[in-house]
Amino acid sequence: MSRKKYLFIFSALLLIFLLSTLFLFTKKHHDYQLETIVNETPSYVEAITSIITSEDSINNVLDTHIKAQQKFFYEQIQSTFHTYLIDRDELNIDCQFQRLDRNIWYISLITSMKGPSFSSPYYRIDCWTWDIKKQQVLNLENIFSPSTEFSAFQDRVFQELQKECPSCLSEENFTKILGPDFHTFQVTETGITLYFNPFLFQDDYFDIIPISIEMDTLSIKQEKQEEKKKFSNQKKVSPSRIIDPSKPVVALTFDDGPSQYTEEIIQILKENEVNATFFILGNKVERYQDILRKSVQNGNELGNHSYNHQWLSHLSTDELMTQIRKTQSVIQEKIQYTPRYLRPTYGSVTNRIRKNANLEIALWTVDTKDWRIHNVNRIVERATKKIKDGDIILMHDIFERSKDALKEIIPILKKQGFQFVTISELEEVKKIRKFENLYPKKET
Ligand code: ZN
Repeated sequence: MSRKKYLFIFSALLLIFLLSTLFLFTKKHHDYQLETIVNETPSYVEAITSIITSEDSINNVLDTHIKAQQKFFYEQIQSTFHTYLIDRDELNIDCQFQRLDRNIWYISLITSMKGPSFSSPYYRIDCWTWDIKKQQVLNLENIFSPSTEFSAFQDRVFQELQKECPSCLSEENFTKILGPDFHTFQVTETGITLYFNPFLFQDDYFDIIPISIEMDTLSIKQEKQEEKKKFSNQKKVSPSRIIDPSKPVVALTFDDGPSQYTEEIIQILKENEVNATFFILGNKVERYQDILRKSVQNGNELGNHSYNHQWLSHLSTDELMTQIRKTQSVIQEKIQYTPRYLRPTYGSVTNRIRKNANLEIALWTVDTKDWRIHNVNRIVERATKKIKDGDIILMHDIFERSKDALKEIIPILKKQGFQFVTISELEEVKKIRKFENLYPKKET
């Protein structure tokens, strides 16, 4: 072949390469990107997930909205004085994106605020349906055709709303709120869902009221094959991780520490972006206080496991109370942390313990028997075979073999689709599932 031919082939290849890069770039350019920003201070944690799109007008609306939520949050927390790290206020904003068709985008932001400055958790949902071509947010007027139809629609929504919250509002007020410019709605496969946020009608009504209306006369429609989205099905339960309650969870727990192996264990957890719960002994707290503090900062949970591992169910009420109280107070004093849970020694719970502990009781569902089994592989096997959603795995952070087993256990369970939660997070996940009637698919 001549040099000319080589040159021709080379330039052709180069052109193909450039064109495909350009194609990929433009394709990417029309896409979107979710971004999470976490900001922690001694008094609050904010975790904000937002979307950055190729449309500046959308980005600006979302940005303004998020800033307003932050302003409201800061105003609420300003007056509160905080003693413990564990009691920080939390602002979470989660984002969902959905394409109704190529030019119609649906974006929602779900905001939650809770903590010592809030008498009860505050939730709200805000959503926008965007027509990308026309560069505008669609309101009810845009998706309904004649105005007569709209007043009939208002009547239907009003009736539904009265079923949900009979004392909420008068018809007159309602017509003002649900005007043609209302845009807090989601177009669904079968019609439309409207979201009414707390305080919209009444100062003391704290719930979001979703009203779904079936209708087939809307100018836009969610495509059938589109995956159904549940609102707020992703909740942040810890500042640095997102836990999806619709997916399986498992809780790792370590008893009898801290010990010389604890520091390495919390390092392994951190490297794997996983958190666990440590049921610790009061008499070891002072010696290992720096490691415990680091553990809490990493998002791990501490629980009470008595002062010096006495058999709690064999003690007198006084002795029992001393074991629990001394442990609570040394943890509070040295770590500025208040455990919520007691794991009685030997898992032995009596009514007397339940009555007097003043703490929730946390046992386990899977025992690795790492105190008896010396073989790392067998410990790994016990912690990873037949694990079900919601299991609580018992280990001990006082053995080198447990630490070695942990390195293998985490990736195996992750591969099986498990998310790692602390005991408190596990409880929260259960609550969310109950509230939203949301359960993970059966493990196969
Ligand atoms: Zn123990």
